[in-house]
Amino acid sequence: MNVWTAKALVLVGTVVLIAIRAPHGHRSRTVKIAASYKTPLETGLLVLAWVGFLIPLIWVTSPVFWFAEYTLATGPLGAGVMCLVIGLWLFYRSHADLGTNWSISLEVREQHQLITQGVYRRIRHPMYLALALYSIGQALIIPNWVAGPSNLIAFAILCALRVGAEEKMMVEQFGDEYVAYSEKTKRLIPGVW
Ligand code: SAH
Repeated sequence: MNVWTAKALVLVGTVVLIAIRAPHGHRSRTVKIAASYKTPLETGLLVLAWVGFLIPLIWVTSPVFWFAEYTLATGPLGAGVMCLVIGLWLFYRSHADLGTNWSISLEVREQHQLITQGVYRRIRHPMYLALALYSIGQALIIPNWVAGPSNLIAFAILCALRVGAEEKMMVEQFGDEYVAYSEKTKRLIPGVW
């Protein structure tokens, strides 16, 4: 399988991801932040996420990671495209459901509403599941031991260190409402965890 197929898919996936987020990023800037729970750790995690996101793009545009290249097979490529497509669809849906309540970091907006419907009905972190699927898709599509898993590793660390803090923040803000919501839902995988 030609490596340029993988490069084209990574580029298209990245453009779609940015196109989904851009209007929400723009819109959320118009709503004031009522409370910020951003810590130095959280800032570090965001930097890590950016590095994980940029490495595949460096792989697409330059030969710096040539030493870690391997041969691309059709099976992983097909599975990767599926993960990418489902991940991007869920990313679109979770942004649509969260609306202006979305923040890139741990922040509560003015007149923040707790969303419990749509893709938030069964799991509390559909956007993180979307990004996990997207990162798994990239790991399968990119035939390179450095660029392939970079997004997945960065995102797994971000998720592991952020989800608990985010839920604690939500309990502080929404109290029993969020506790009741947590009792009815799973974190990432519907019906499982
Ligand atoms: N963890 C969620 C949201 C990611 S965006 C997901 O994976 O889908 C992070 C911001 O979304 C948090 O700072 C918080 O302000 C907001 N948020 C998280 N869950 C929310 C919910 N159920 N309703 C409203 N806002 C939420």
